[in-house]
Amino acid sequence: MPQYAPPLRDMQFVLHEVLDAVGQLQACPPHAELDVDTFNAVLEEAGKFAAGVAFPLNLSGDTEGCTLDRVTHEVRAPRGFKEAYAQYVEGGWPALACAPEHGGQGLPFVLNQCLYEMLNSANQAWTMYPGLSHGAYEALHAHGSPMQKATYLPKLTSGEWTGTMCLTEPHCGTDLGLLRTKAEPQGDGSYRITGEKIFISAGEHDLAANIVHLVLARLPDAPAGSKGISLFVVPKFLVNADGSLGARNGIHCGGLEHKMGIHGNATCQMVLEDAVGTLVGEPGKGLQAMFVMMNAARLGVGNQSLGLTEVAFQNALAYAKERIQMRSLTGPKATDKPADPIIVHPDVRRMLLTAKAWAEGARALLCFCAVLADKELHHPDEKVRSDSADLLALLTPIAKAFVTDNGFAATNECLQVFGGHGYIKEWGMEQFVRDARINMIYEGTNTVQSLDLLGRKVLGNSGATLKKFARLAGALVEAEGVNEKMAEFIDPLAQLGEQMTKFTTEIGVKALQNPDEAGAAAVPYLRVAGHLVYGYFFALMASVALKKIAAGSTDPFYTAKLQTARFYFARLFPETTMLMRAARAGSAALMDTDAALA
Ligand SMILES: Cc1cc2nc3c(=O)[nH]c(=O)nc-3n(C[C@H](O)[C@H](O)[C@H](O)COP(=O)(O)OP(=O)(O)OC[C@H]3O[C@@H](n4cnc5c(N)ncnc54)[C@H](O)[C@@H]3O)c2cc1C
Repeated sequence: MPQYAPPLRDMQFVLHEVLDAVGQLQACPPHAELDVDTFNAVLEEAGKFAAGVAFPLNLSGDTEGCTLDRVTHEVRAPRGFKEAYAQYVEGGWPALACAPEHGGQGLPFVLNQCLYEMLNSANQAWTMYPGLSHGAYEALHAHGSPMQKATYLPKLTSGEWTGTMCLTEPHCGTDLGLLRTKAEPQGDGSYRITGEKIFISAGEHDLAANIVHLVLARLPDAPAGSKGISLFVVPKFLVNADGSLGARNGIHCGGLEHKMGIHGNATCQMVLEDAVGTLVGEPGKGLQAMFVMMNAARLGVGNQSLGLTEVAFQNALAYAKERIQMRSLTGPKATDKPADPIIVHPDVRRMLLTAKAWAEGARALLCFCAVLADKELHHPDEKVRSDSADLLALLTPIAKAFVTDNGFAATNECLQVFGGHGYIKEWGMEQFVRDARINMIYEGTNTVQSLDLLGRKVLGNSGATLKKFARLAGALVEAEGVNEKMAEFIDPLAQLGEQMTKFTTEIGVKALQNPDEAGAAAVPYLRVAGHLVYGYFFALMASVALKKIAAGSTDPFYTAKLQTARFYFARLFPETTMLMRAARAGSAALMDTDAALA
């Protein structure tokens, strides 16, 4: 059976020692009273819930999966999921980062980020039931009418109702401009919506009394393409004027997908037959409204892979210390045993450290992004708000694609540490790999994230936002460039920073001649950018650790942090050389291949 211990020490290191999250947030009026003790107390309680309630249901949920009653169209989640959700609601967890005017606790988004990292480590499939509600909440909070807000936000905040996002249709996933679901105005402000949605996470289940679907559909006079898409809120049960539940609406689950992982989460084919809905925001502006939800969800997906990377690492590390096979190349280490624990072997350490580095880099990045989201919302200085928004927009595709690609690689390495036992279900490792795979696909595939980063976020504004990040990294390079002990971290970061401008310009110029050049370079480009970002965070973390040690700390945590940073720069970061070469190779090796792909 797998194990999980919430990584509170590393979270606290990132939040308090590296980012000074509380200090930064105290500048925001709603968080002026925040203190480190409150933060830590919430994290500790969240860890108890994740490890004690959600984690024990992970393997059993995977084995049992969800069941659909074909007569009633009701879906039952695996045993124990409903009770765990009731406990979650009872504990007030859904309300953590929601606005007080809707019954929320008004705590910062970054705390929710850490709560969700732990829930994702514990049980990604279960976590998606409450997780989707946050996106629905955000979209309605930003674009809903006063009536929609009053009807839905308090219930989403309390967790009595959950939310979904209904975008995908059988013939359209990435290209939402193709969608066909129709919305007919009824003359009374409501719409009748008809169509078919597929792959809808938590589309139907027995955890909550009502499900609030956010549905993309097309009005009768809508132009073709993405400009003709509007957003609607469609509840499973209609809501009476007094807030009580009314009749069953015309939206139901027509089938459950049988899939590779996250078996405990119901992935539903949703049939809409004259379902009653109301318009969210303006007609034809559905995609913009949905982007609020999608951006939050992209960070959420990165967080899913962070959670899986952490839990897979913890289990692989424990196994590598116990499992004895062969002797160390430098002579026996466990002389009282017939063989040495496999952790003595260099390549086993490589696999473990790869997962550890991917987890710690991702945690730093995602917490940083979450603090940016808090500042974007609440900072009193307009300039800080807009800078935070810009940086967050730049980092979101990296937080989604780089973290999830690495998460899949990391869970895979951790499975490998177990040898054949990793392939056997009872150890839980193969589930982590299967669950991690979807994170590279949904919320915009990782290719789409790469195109977004290179096309819109970098070339789209002539690298202006990238320069904002480069200034941050440049300040660290300048501050630490004279410190000899930091040279092994700062030098490669500074070098990549310098190369990045030329590299980006080269691709940009080629893309002007031929747009396929951007398409051909985008995926390796995102990985290079990901390393620039992780390089910054590992150098920053190393500098904090060195300062603590210089100040007399003997806490082995800081030595461990330095060793992980050293491993990252020595073994993972050099990938950038190969990636830049691949990105520069141009589009011809891909596009002049009709014979090869005939
Ligand atoms: C388990 C699961 C849960 C999901 N949950 C939800 C949900 O809750 N709500 C929801 O609405 N959807 C959901 N989805 C759908 C998911 O978001 C889509 O599967 C995803 O966006 C990709 O769309 P597609 O599957 O149609 O692939 P396609 O769009 O057909 O893409 C196929 C391939 O082509 C590539 N491609 C497409 N266009 C381009 C391009 N311009 N340039 C380069 N490459 C391109 C893609 O990257 C991909 O590799 C879920 C899917 C799964 C499997």
